[in-house]
Amino acid sequence: ASEADEKDLVIIGGGVAGYVAAIKAGQAGLKVACIEKRGSLGGTCLNVGCIPSKSLLNNSHLYHQILHDTKKRGIEVGDVQLNLQQFMKAKDQSVEGLTKGVEYLLKKNGAEYIKGAGAFADEHTVQINLNEGGERSVRGKNIFIATGSESTPFPGLTIDEKRVITSTGAIALEQVPKKMTVIGGGIIGLEMASVWSRLGSEVTVVEFLGQIGGPGMDAEIAKMTQKILAKQGLKFKLNTKVASGDVGSDAIDLKIEAAKGGKEESLDADVVLVAIGRRPYTAGLGLENVGLETDERGRLVIDHQYRTKIPHIRAIGDVTFGPMLAHKAEEEAVAAVEYVTKAYGHVNYGAIPSVMYTYPEVAWVGQNEAELKAAGVKYKVGTFPFSANSRAKTNLDTEGMVKFIADAQTDRILGIHIVGPNAGEMIAEGTLALEYGASTEDVGRTCHAHPTLAEAFKEAAMVCYDKAIHY
Ligand code: FAD
Ligand code: NAD
Repeated sequence: ASEADEKDLVIIGGGVAGYVAAIKAGQAGLKVACIEKRGSLGGTCLNVGCIPSKSLLNNSHLYHQILHDTKKRGIEVGDVQLNLQQFMKAKDQSVEGLTKGVEYLLKKNGAEYIKGAGAFADEHTVQINLNEGGERSVRGKNIFIATGSESTPFPGLTIDEKRVITSTGAIALEQVPKKMTVIGGGIIGLEMASVWSRLGSEVTVVEFLGQIGGPGMDAEIAKMTQKILAKQGLKFKLNTKVASGDVGSDAIDLKIEAAKGGKEESLDADVVLVAIGRRPYTAGLGLENVGLETDERGRLVIDHQYRTKIPHIRAIGDVTFGPMLAHKAEEEAVAAVEYVTKAYGHVNYGAIPSVMYTYPEVAWVGQNEAELKAAGVKYKVGTFPFSANSRAKTNLDTEGMVKFIADAQTDRILGIHIVGPNAGEMIAEGTLALEYGASTEDVGRTCHAHPTLAEAFKEAAMVCYDKAIHY
């Protein structure tokens, strides 16, 4: 290989894990290349995940609010129309701006961006099928695998991304479906169900478990959230499984039944969204050429320094253990580069926030009640409803609550769970509290500005060790 192809670090995958590692390594003065086959940087998150979905969530909320939530505020609006083409264009513009921005950041930090599909030729060499045609190989003293994840398929339903869709189809529909069935009431299911329901679809969510929200969401919060979403028009079928699906020329007919078995029922829709989780993606990576294997769930096995059994090959982001979240991937990218450059890094897996961007948002960090019960931990709970918060009341936006869970003896915060307006921003304070090992009294004795929604956060903490003032 030429000198240009000898790198300190080669990264396969230019998603959040890969591009952040490339920037961090560039900043540290490493010679780094990031290989991405998609044609743009940012991976699932920027191209077909976090960013486009939030554009649709934000603008569909605005549309829904203009239609249904202005009169009582004294705002009379005229003829409101949805222009779905422009709606999608606004989303595409956000995506394009951000992916180009990432490309600029790589350049600025001296990281080489190679457009193509990478595969291991040997333990130090990655062979690249270039997008523009031809091949090239690069050698890395270190190699990071950051190839991300893909939607888990539903057996018996073939995805065409038009009528039987994953989230990728759900962010790009050309018409508002009359009826939509969502298989899986986790985060993707509920975010996308919200978007299309607000735009006019009749949406039914079929969830195998007895609660919505996917892994991690506290059961009490999930129940409250379900009630709020149901008031917005979403229909739920919990404890229900899809037995089979028939894609007809007019409609898609799903046969559903109780999760434990029972009588079959039919559910027809124009569009079916499969949102039953994601799985690590390592296809075409040539893992067999270096003898690397994945576990039973397709995850690359690593140690606490992100090293595979070949120590200079590391894996970060969705392709390995842990929650499949962009900010988790980012933290790991920084830590993995630091392990290469300084031999230490830091990610606190006990303090990674989760946010569901429905309206209202749901956000949490730390443990939920069921997890603490299962672990036999004695805890206390403090809650505060937004209906007793002055700012929520002035905003005419009072649904939801803040819930603190703290150690019964030491008062140390173990988990914070919020459903309510701006929960996704508010959880940052909770994450900091958890990271610093704060008690609820630490939070309750911290002055919070008035009138803010964050006062509900403080008062929920106060309930844990004393009493709230306003409830
Ligand atoms: P990815 O982003 O999947 O990136 C991997 C990249 O590697 C891909 O671009 C792929 O093309 C490339 N690649 C794969 N194999 C090769 C190869 N052999 N050669 C070259 N390139 C290769 N998370 C949040 O935190 N907040 C959110 O709001 C959020 N919303 C989401 C909404 C949706 C609809 C979806 C699907 C996901 C969402 N996520 C969200 C999850 C988030 O997108 C992922 O956790 C994140 O993208 C993981 O980053 P990654 O770099 O590990 O993988
Ligand atoms: P998920 O794991 O969050 O939820 C999947 C849901 O489908 C679960 O509730 C599960 O019980 C249910 N399910 C599984 N099999 C089923 C079946 N056969 N029938 C009915 N229900 C079934 O997965 P997801 O919503 O697909 O999201 C995938 C990943 O993407 C998650 O890790 C999520 O964290 C991430 N993501 C994050 C965000 C965010 O941070 N806002 C947004 C979208 C996606």
